[in-house]
Amino acid sequence: VPLDLLQFFSELIEQERETVGEHHELIFKITGNTKGFWGDRGLLQQIFVNLMSNAIKYSPEGGAIEFHLIGKESQVMFSIKDQGIGIPIADQENLFQSFSRGSNVDTIPGTGLGLAISKACVDLHGGNITLSSQVGQGTKFIVSLPKNGKGEMGKG
Ligand code: ATP
Ligand code: MG
Repeated sequence: VPLDLLQFFSELIEQERETVGEHHELIFKITGNTKGFWGDRGLLQQIFVNLMSNAIKYSPEGGAIEFHLIGKESQVMFSIKDQGIGIPIADQENLFQSFSRGSNVDTIPGTGLGLAISKACVDLHGGNITLSSQVGQGTKFIVSLPKNGKGEMGKG
């Protein structure tokens, strides 16, 4: 059966809401038709948790974090946008490699594996992950995944 992404991400967001409490404002936006997606819950959760934990870790108390789920004809996209410290341009290119960390996170602990894991999960889905970021302004990661599976094949 296809995955009900609306329900799936609603639950993850609600869990996250309990964790972040008053520290961050979580915004959940949905656009378009997200039905007909075939994919793996474990991989999707892995992507979500890594991107969300970064958004929380690298943004200040009170910063809003927006999760936007977008359904298109043959793909779904989701983005996670924060109002955090941002990523220097020079660091952006290599960020998806294992153990790669930004030059502005010295005092914030981390291993540098979260994004590499996320990218691997996105690749397994045949999807794509990109980012846009400005230092001191915030960061947005965008994941796009083909709906694929039976949905696509079913169209013959
Ligand atoms: P961990 O393995 O525990 O996740 P990490 O957070 O350092 O450690 P990644 O999640 O792979 O590793 O992120 C790599 C680097 O990308 C981070 O160290 C940070 O420099 C930068 N980064 C990722 N997400 C954000 C974000 N939302 N805002 C600012 N910098 C970010
Ligand atoms: Mg991380």
